[in-house]
Amino acid sequence: MILSKDELHAPLLAECDRLRDELAHLEEQDAEIAAGDVSEHTGYGNHLADDATETFEHEKRISLRKTVERRLRAVEEALGRFERGEYGLCERCGTEIDLARLEAIPYTSLCLRCQRIAEMAPRRR
Ligand SMILES: [Zn+2]
Repeated sequence: MILSKDELHAPLLAECDRLRDELAHLEEQDAEIAAGDVSEHTGYGNHLADDATETFEHEKRISLRKTVERRLRAVEEALGRFERGEYGLCERCGTEIDLARLEAIPYTSLCLRCQRIAEMAPRRR
């Protein structure tokens, strides 16, 4: 249980670092795999089953990377709002976001009501 929004700054910073590390790691892996692919495709021709698995793994990695990127952006934006003194205010309607909601999702920029509206009509996200 948190008592004030300020208590969420440290965890947000930690989350930001963690996500940057994770993203760097994923990018490193992708680079290694890309480098490996080049040499592999010059030689052998009977890698059909492996290729299918590789494609699947590749897609999984891409979607994981997108998830991490999106999360990182949200966390960075939340930190930016902290700096501007706007943290915890709903981006859409300007009301204070519930502390319990912020504790559960510290990088959220919408109050619960606006989040529901946004989910019903997904225009900007
Ligand atoms: Zn709102």
